[in-house]
Amino acid sequence: MTNAVERLEEVRAKIEHAARDANRADAVTLVAVSKTFDADAIRPVLDAGQRVFGENRVQEAQGKWPALRAAYPDLELHLIGPLQSNKAKEAVALFDVIETIDREKIAAELAKEMKRQGKHPRLYVQVNTGLEDQKAGIDPRETVAFVKRCRETHGLAIEGLMAIPPADENPGPHFALLEKLAREARVEKLSMGMSGDFETAIQFGATSVRVGSAIFGSR
Ligand SMILES: *Cc1c(COP(=O)(O)O)cnc(C)c1O
Repeated sequence: MTNAVERLEEVRAKIEHAARDANRADAVTLVAVSKTFDADAIRPVLDAGQRVFGENRVQEAQGKWPALRAAYPDLELHLIGPLQSNKAKEAVALFDVIETIDREKIAAELAKEMKRQGKHPRLYVQVNTGLEDQKAGIDPRETVAFVKRCRETHGLAIEGLMAIPPADENPGPHFALLEKLAREARVEKLSMGMSGDFETAIQFGATSVRVGSAIFGSR
């Protein structure tokens, strides 16, 4: 029997090991994905020192994170799920990093809200590397131009790319594609890798990995 804090330590050790194996001198950030878990499940992980968390639904995050943030003011919250334009206001207010910009309308809404609220979450573009119909993200072939439009038309400082490879494929080529697109688009951050493949993602240059079930248990 293990608990979330023990599993957190195991994931941390694996991240360090993978980074060393890959001769990575830079740090890899662990985003602990707490979706579906309530504040009582999250608090021990905060007490163990974890400060970066990911949520995939704006509404669910609004229900639990404002109180946790009051208790742990230095935490960092990432939105890793699809963003509807009618939730841009709430997303800007709550999140420190929004990883899922994937269309013009969202870029425009975020720009408007950031200006209105005077708050500037860090921003990533989500790429649908497997061109899956059911998955959010921009077409890889349009990514470089889209990042440019986000910057030049909407004034958004895009600093990263994010992707979720198809569940039934070897993730390596998808991670490699995301890394190549990041170089072409001149963005520095690469959010890729989940419970099943974060060590592979680190080999391919992930600067952050989004790990849920390996820490919190199955959903
Ligand atoms: C749920 C989720 C994760 C974490 O998945 P696990 O397999 O539980 O580690 C990572 N990224 C996104 C976008 C998710 O929605």
